[in-house]
Amino acid sequence: MAQLIIDSSHFKHNLDLISSHLGSIDKLALVLKDNAYGHGIKEIAKLARDYGIKSVFVKNEMEALMIQDEFEHITALYGSISPTSPTNIYQTIHSIQMLKSISPQRGIELKFNVGMNRNGLEIKQIQQAIQLILERKLKLVGVFSHNGYGDDGGDEMQKQHQTSQEIKEQITYLASKLGFELPRFHFLSSSGALRQEKIEEDLVRIGIASYGYLCAPIPIASKLKPIASLWAHQISKRTLEKEIKIGYSGAGVMPRDHVISTYDLGYGDGLLRLNEHHGRLTCAQGEEILPRMSMDCFSCLSDQEKICVFDNAWKWAEIFGTTPYDILVKLSPSIPRSII
Ligand SMILES: *Cc1c(COP(=O)(O)O)cnc(C)c1O
Repeated sequence: MAQLIIDSSHFKHNLDLISSHLGSIDKLALVLKDNAYGHGIKEIAKLARDYGIKSVFVKNEMEALMIQDEFEHITALYGSISPTSPTNIYQTIHSIQMLKSISPQRGIELKFNVGMNRNGLEIKQIQQAIQLILERKLKLVGVFSHNGYGDDGGDEMQKQHQTSQEIKEQITYLASKLGFELPRFHFLSSSGALRQEKIEEDLVRIGIASYGYLCAPIPIASKLKPIASLWAHQISKRTLEKEIKIGYSGAGVMPRDHVISTYDLGYGDGLLRLNEHHGRLTCAQGEEILPRMSMDCFSCLSDQEKICVFDNAWKWAEIFGTTPYDILVKLSPSIPRSII
């Protein structure tokens, strides 16, 4: 059976590298959303907890409940949290309307728009939001924004960062004036945090870098180690001559006389569907994959019983014109995960 192997020493290596850049492990919060970017939320949560991570961010309540006992602080980035869920699960607030309806029992984190113009409150709504929080006695745990230029750096990133700092200043001022406890502040994800020399905020939210990738051309990128390797098992094999056709519409053509095997992963398992118009794609050790990928299997010039499909998602990302995030997050939760 196919398998996703998570290398715990690589994960630890990445977290060591990131926390030494941050100057402290206390500033390191991990993003485990979308099944930990396809790696397996339960498996990654255990490794993160053992490392000493206290705060994590997930997609929604369903994900939060899967790891409810592992962390002090679990924030669901989207959706609402039901009253019966544990109190270490916080809801992200994207609008004034949400502040009016949320239960005062539930911890909340305010999300501010600093220029991506997707989600969150506007800076001019700070007063109104704080007023509602005080009136309704809501539990304000955190305040955050998301920088849309972390991968790019430069003036645009600094401009959004400056707006985030203004939000922090305004809320800090209101806290001292009105006498409420300061929430935690966090504004940066992997690339922004690893670009920034000094992190002034309480936390940064690290996703992709902990999994061993970075889509920004900064020196630390080459030191990260991908933590996942994807393995497939041989279903069937035969020896075919050069120019024999394989699979649907005969799109795969033998480049030479060779043994060809099918392996037990396909686009139904979340791999992208390689076809004859994409570039030449190989497995981790250079074994050529022939198009077209099927739903549950692919054909490859190899005789091995077990094959490493990839141990670095960049090759796949490049062939499909996308990012490692996109390749990894699609990996089906039904592929068994194991930690070494
Ligand atoms: C996904 C996400 C992150 C993590 O981004 P990376 O680039 O993977 O580090 C941080 N914050 C928010 C709000 C996110 O949605």
